[in-house]
Amino acid sequence: MKNFTTDRKSTVSLSKKSTLKYINTKDLAVGKPHLIWKSLRSMVSEVKMGITKARMLTGTFMTQVIKHKYNIEHSDQICKLCTIYSEDLTHIILDCPALFSTRQIYYNRLKIEVINVIGESKWSELFGNKDAILLLILDCTNFSKYFSVDQQNAITKLSSVLCHQLYLMRLKLLEKTAKVPNKQRGSDTCI
Ligand SMILES: [Zn+2]
Repeated sequence: MKNFTTDRKSTVSLSKKSTLKYINTKDLAVGKPHLIWKSLRSMVSEVKMGITKARMLTGTFMTQVIKHKYNIEHSDQICKLCTIYSEDLTHIILDCPALFSTRQIYYNRLKIEVINVIGESKWSELFGNKDAILLLILDCTNFSKYFSVDQQNAITKLSSVLCHQLYLMRLKLLEKTAKVPNKQRGSDTCI
């Protein structure tokens, strides 16, 4: 997974792909691992966190919206946890009420870390909308001018924990609903 890199020449076309809208393509280069991998140790638990984050970042995390789009299992777009809203990445990471308590713990840690660096008013200025917060969570190098390399590492690690904890809780709740057959448990991604 450490070869999660690409040729700098292809970054122009990469930046136009809608599935890669969150990744900071300017920082991708051959032989240069993405910050996700630099911020995590080689322990199995941390590698798993990195994989979840990489799938979310590259648009290969299987949300209901993606399942519906590609007509997988004749799914609709509705979130199976709250059964109210469409389930895209924004819904999982920032909105789904069923994931509120998990989100609150890990999102607050991330927010505090960032506010400690840039202050509350800059936080409000930069992250006053969901798109910006999602960009920060999925690839904080999009805001690299505000953070040192060490700070980007710390933010990336906290956001990877947030994404992975949301993924684990979502999986647990999906299994609980018993509406999802066991054979689908491993099919949360389309990699
Ligand atoms: Zn939901």
